[in-house]
Amino acid sequence: MSADALITACTERLEPLERAVNRAWWDANTDASEDTQARRADAEVALSNALADADTFAAIRDARARGTADPSAARALEMLEQEYTPHQIDTTLARSIIDLQSSIESRFSRHRGTIDGAPVDDNAIAEVLHSSDDADRRKAAWEASKTVGVAVADDIRELARLRNEAARSLGYRDHFAMTLATSDFDERRLFNTMEAVDEITAAPFAAMMSSLDERLSARFDIAPAALRPWHYDDPFFQEVPVAIGMDLDPYLGELDIDDLTSRTFDGMGLDVRPVLQRSDLTPRERKTQHAFCIDVDRAGDVRVLSNNVPGEKWTETMLHEFGHAVYFDGVDRALPWTLRTMHHCLTEGVAMRCGRLVREPEWLSAIAGLPTDVVDKLAPQLRTFRQTSLLIFARWVLVMTHFERGLYANPDGPHDTRWWDLVERYQLVRRPDERHAPDWAAKIHIAAAPVYYHNYLYGEMIASQLAATVGSLVNRRDAGRFLSTRVFEPGASLRWDHLIEAATGSPLSPTVLAHELAR
Ligand SMILES: [Zn+2]
Repeated sequence: MSADALITACTERLEPLERAVNRAWWDANTDASEDTQARRADAEVALSNALADADTFAAIRDARARGTADPSAARALEMLEQEYTPHQIDTTLARSIIDLQSSIESRFSRHRGTIDGAPVDDNAIAEVLHSSDDADRRKAAWEASKTVGVAVADDIRELARLRNEAARSLGYRDHFAMTLATSDFDERRLFNTMEAVDEITAAPFAAMMSSLDERLSARFDIAPAALRPWHYDDPFFQEVPVAIGMDLDPYLGELDIDDLTSRTFDGMGLDVRPVLQRSDLTPRERKTQHAFCIDVDRAGDVRVLSNNVPGEKWTETMLHEFGHAVYFDGVDRALPWTLRTMHHCLTEGVAMRCGRLVREPEWLSAIAGLPTDVVDKLAPQLRTFRQTSLLIFARWVLVMTHFERGLYANPDGPHDTRWWDLVERYQLVRRPDERHAPDWAAKIHIAAAPVYYHNYLYGEMIASQLAATVGSLVNRRDAGRFLSTRVFEPGASLRWDHLIEAATGSPLSPTVLAHELAR
């Protein structure tokens, strides 16, 4: 079979199955029930079975070995090989992995922790951690955020064992190594980058933490050494605490998030109204509590799930998710289906670039309509906030990436302790006393989006590199055009690192973070 015929055959087989998976995924997340979960698992099994087809896989490898003069066909074959590889495993094992992951995710969707016996959702927990001065109540909220971990930890370890069994049957060290190898990442280079990020951020992060701890110790009237995770404002310390942050809710709390979102992208010449229409944006029972954007069919059916409450947090989330949306929507539909996608770190980079807008002076005045004198007064704080938030997030990604590598190196390891070792090492947050619990398992990504978190750090670097190249995105149609033509349209026809180099003129480097922190 010619390369083109093979690519066409794969597309005809995979396209409807992927669309079915995406629709079922959407249904399961907007209406979590046994039924929608079961349909989602079935759809995933059907796609996974197609990707497990050994004859097709052999034909793809053959075609790659023969080579092709057409770069687009060569890239499509490379992508197909990466997609098929993890599925060349025992079908019973594949089914067990899908079933177990889907069951864990369903428990995440339905689980509610409790405070004083009353069930609370993630927004209620966030509210206590954001605003309460009562340390006991904060502790109760923080603990409520972790109870899901106890419910799923044993199954996550089992899932890691199964994922490793699959990876090893394909000749990889473990699931961690396989995921990187089949997603255009080199493990050694990744950890070199992690080390560079550690070096770049260690000193400014430590300085930031000592001033933060000083303020928190005054606020809660305890010694800095007595501070524990619940004194910081989100369950994993991924975000800037209120004590050193800036609360934009007084300025954004009255504004309509959908309107802010569409006007932000209008300014770049990108119309998001059709995506808004298809989206599910308000909180409800039996609905996934975080947010995501999904490209259902690589042909324009792009949707966002969110749980909007007026204010800064969900405004940023919406700008982030609609950054994904315009990217999905902007991929050149004339490309072959296989290439009508993009690497995770690129889509995260664009999404993060858009999410950052909410704290940029230009956006606050032009889109949110704040008076100039107010924005001028906020500007220095906004810059500090931006740097603090980058520091906190980078250190958190170091925890996640190192944790996951260790989880797959030995699923039976002492992970409850390891987790806190890493949190103390990278985040400088002291572990709770006398606590023996699988707090790591309460982070949904470990089960649902394994070996993914590094993409967010690369996303931050890409966002910074794009900002350095393009400048502001506020009411800049030319910037929108740059993103559309240089970043969105090529889809996956270039490998992610080549695309960034081609678009921005230089290879991606962690030094962009150093520049961001020095500004
Ligand atoms: Zn994202």
